[in-house]
Amino acid sequence: MAKRRLDCYVYSFLSDEEVFKTHEESLIAMKQWGFNVSPTWQKCADIQEAMQYINQWEEKRFTLPLGTDGIVLKVNRYDQQRELGYTAKSPRWAISFKYKAMAASTVLTSIRYQVGRTGSVTPVALLTPVLLAGTVVKRASLHNANEIERLGVRLYDTVFVEKGGEIIPKITGVDLNRRTEQSQPISYPTICPACGTPLVRKEGEANHYCPNERGCPPQRQARFEHFIQRRAMNIESLGEGKIEMLIDRGLVETPAGLYSLTSEQLLGLEKIFLDEETGKKRIVSFREKTVDNILTAIERSKAQPLQNVLFALGIRYVGNTTAEKLVDYFGSMDAIMNASQEELLAVPDTGPRIAESVVAWFADPYNRTFVEQLRAAGLQFVGEKKVVEREGDALAGKTFLYTGTFANFSREELENRIAANGGRYSAVFLKN
Ligand SMILES: [Zn+2]
Repeated sequence: MAKRRLDCYVYSFLSDEEVFKTHEESLIAMKQWGFNVSPTWQKCADIQEAMQYINQWEEKRFTLPLGTDGIVLKVNRYDQQRELGYTAKSPRWAISFKYKAMAASTVLTSIRYQVGRTGSVTPVALLTPVLLAGTVVKRASLHNANEIERLGVRLYDTVFVEKGGEIIPKITGVDLNRRTEQSQPISYPTICPACGTPLVRKEGEANHYCPNERGCPPQRQARFEHFIQRRAMNIESLGEGKIEMLIDRGLVETPAGLYSLTSEQLLGLEKIFLDEETGKKRIVSFREKTVDNILTAIERSKAQPLQNVLFALGIRYVGNTTAEKLVDYFGSMDAIMNASQEELLAVPDTGPRIAESVVAWFADPYNRTFVEQLRAAGLQFVGEKKVVEREGDALAGKTFLYTGTFANFSREELENRIAANGGRYSAVFLKN
């Protein structure tokens, strides 16, 4: 934490035993023990005092050395907290108060279109820098073409920007009184800003996509970045521009190429990166120690479990959780690779969207080759099958959800029993 200059506030004391009678006592004790307790807390006698506290901090919060968007009101006495208990989602003895988002107005000077890993294009508004809630705001997300249309925003318009709980501010409206003759309608691009391929818009989706999956540079790079992340193959020593260098020099075609890299190829590589915003230069060079770290991490990644390998492939809609469920159910890459849509639909929480995406991905010979290269490199292709074999069709065509806990089953067992008897388990209510 010291190295990354992170810090934390301790705001709650948990114990199975009754150490303190009130939240106040616990805060005072933790402070004495040397924990970092925010000095901004206050015990209020009634709701009037609580309102005074809220009003007092509306402006004063900007003098704090950190960003905050609201406050939390808690019942002080622990016995009363216990009596009030919890709803399915939150305690009944604590509630948050959010201050109205801070707004500012500024001029939209241009739009940059970013291409993501799956080819989706996101417009980002570049703004005349403006001070908002203690930070200088230079850009705001515009989400997609629909959003631009909904706002009716044009280039060189004066726009309102708001900062709520999110890190990236959003544009909430246009100040039409300040629209000048200079303003121009935004013409959404019809071709990919990175590779020039005509963009497509899939039915029912708000985003435009660049369909040039293999050749589009930002998509290619994002696939590598997805592959090396901690939750996938965990080769993060290749981050911060290093992957880009390997692709540019033609050392790797797909992430499978990482497994045949040698130290001779890497030693001495160097590139100067220029930060567009700050104008600062950053040199990335592959010294002996860096190369050692990278090659060790690549070698070690071969031990990552199958669910990480499956997630690393970057199949659309197959996130960590889905990858884990597929592995639990099928037990091996080969079984997943050869599963039909119907078989995939029998996996807990797997709907038509995921099933279609998985089948289509593995049906592509290019992807098959990639998978075979990973197999040849020695990655984990076998996992542990945790789902019981099909027992019957008693629950076929039925979908189940549950809340709370059962005395006789763990959540996992329950999911397995439902699946084993042909039913579907859904966790829809948990995903909101
Ligand atoms: Zn493209």
